[in-house]
Amino acid sequence: MPLHESESIVLKTYNLAEADRIALFLTREFGIVRGVAKGARRLHSKFGSSLEPFSIVQLEYFQKDDRELVSIQKADLVISSFEAASDPRFLKVFSRFADLTNVFAQPNLPSPLLYRMLRALILIAAERDTDLTAVELYFEVWLLRIEGFLPDWSVCARCGREFDPAEASELDAEDRLQCTRCSVKGRRPIAPGVRNTLLRILRVSPAEYLREAESHREILRELSAIVFKLLSKAAGPSQAKATARANI
Ligand SMILES: [Zn+2]
Repeated sequence: MPLHESESIVLKTYNLAEADRIALFLTREFGIVRGVAKGARRLHSKFGSSLEPFSIVQLEYFQKDDRELVSIQKADLVISSFEAASDPRFLKVFSRFADLTNVFAQPNLPSPLLYRMLRALILIAAERDTDLTAVELYFEVWLLRIEGFLPDWSVCARCGREFDPAEASELDAEDRLQCTRCSVKGRRPIAPGVRNTLLRILRVSPAEYLREAESHREILRELSAIVFKLLSKAAGPSQAKATARANI
């Protein structure tokens, strides 16, 4: 029975029997992992407060090939989110991220990019006065991109030409963009700022994006509605509860 080690984000925990806990992690090395922490509900448990949601821990676990649940040996706290998670807005937004990660990410399939993104967002949102609606948009855009559901908005979907930054574009039925030369009557125009903001999110760090986000709320609202539609479509109607945005 091999021992696995990985830095991990605690996504969720559930009580199991009298003394144990089940925890869902996004690990850096192995993707989504679900495991049992024996005795975690006891007063002087070796897990202490390290299994609080959105804590970043150094995780050690044993995995049997035939079992879905791994056996958690150790979860040493690297960064605590205890204080951040006492803010109900933070908790709502990140609980939704945990659900969406669970919907989209494959068990035991590493996604270092998803890990890095979620880790960076936890750290940034733990700071005071972070714009959590902008954090939501950043997460959703990257989740769609990582899982292969984000259309390429840098080029016209019909003629393949790269958009000029100041050029207008139009949304087609698959939420891809087409240039005005490929125009069909009745399509929804998308302002250059909306397209450029999406492309910008894919290029810059969360910190950089959040600094810029303050100055263009209207654009973010418009982009946010389109991204939400893409996310709902990708997740499917059975996941409507996980997809729905937190009312913050
Ligand atoms: Zn075109």
